[in-house]
Amino acid sequence: MYQFLDIAYFQNQFIPFQSATLSIATHALHYGTSAFGGLRGIPDPHQRNQILLFRLDRHCQRLSQSAKFLNYDLSAEAIQSTIETFVQKNRPQSSFYIRPLVYTSDLGIAPRLHNIEKNFLIYGIELGDYLSPDGVSCRFSSWCRQEDRSLPLRGKVGGAYITSSLAKTEAVESGFDEAILLNAQGKVSEASGMNIFAVRRGCLITPGADQDILEGITRDSVIQLAKEAGIEVIERPLDKSELLIADEVFLSGTAAKITPVKQIENYALPLDRPITQLLRDKLTAITENRDHSHPEWIFKVQL
Ligand code: PMP
Repeated sequence: MYQFLDIAYFQNQFIPFQSATLSIATHALHYGTSAFGGLRGIPDPHQRNQILLFRLDRHCQRLSQSAKFLNYDLSAEAIQSTIETFVQKNRPQSSFYIRPLVYTSDLGIAPRLHNIEKNFLIYGIELGDYLSPDGVSCRFSSWCRQEDRSLPLRGKVGGAYITSSLAKTEAVESGFDEAILLNAQGKVSEASGMNIFAVRRGCLITPGADQDILEGITRDSVIQLAKEAGIEVIERPLDKSELLIADEVFLSGTAAKITPVKQIENYALPLDRPITQLLRDKLTAITENRDHSHPEWIFKVQL
């Protein structure tokens, strides 16, 4: 199981993780009325007593926007300063993942977002690789990615993850590692918790923000790094068949980082992945503070 960081932020206090518990009647547990974030950090390999957080500002902005969809006013600045204190209290010793969550914390029934208490909590886990860095096998899900007219897909809202969970379990129980979801128009949208990229004839193609994707922060970083490396990036609707004959396919996400796809259904993808490799090496070097080309992406927390 996961190794949890010792201290959690819960009900406006920093307390031991084990003591941070909720009632079984908590509203969000019943209706998925929550929204969460997920960001990575590492102890600075070059400087003791310093923790590096990747794109903290963007993660806090996205969570603040997600909170807005829940009728909860929580500023990005408030989230950011609480996360900084959370890191100082925990003094993590190895690579970790922070999970901030906003949720309807009232006890009681009736789905709604008005006239109901909300709250904000944070916990963390130690986290190395989430998916195999050597590559994963994927299947197309029989479940379709939700549409933005059904729920706010630009928020990372808890209830949306029933579809991700159905798709992931369907994939794993049928012998694959991951699921690729198509949207209601039948175009490629994303994986269960990652965005997707394909390389065709040297161009990097990824479904645009209008394809019912979560606007991933890793996706945004990958697009910027590719453009800086002189790779043409095209954001456009992507067909299922294009993935099957792509030169390279990879998934991007905070937990998954850049994970190559080695197989989709019964189609094997080439093992030579120069663009995936280049982008992965670059992103890793930046997150580990070995490459200083994007200092604005690295937030330093002093312990
Ligand atoms: N799509 C979904 C559904 C996700 O849960 C995630 C993970 N947050 C992503 C894409 C990738 O987003 P990010 O790069 O910001 O982690």
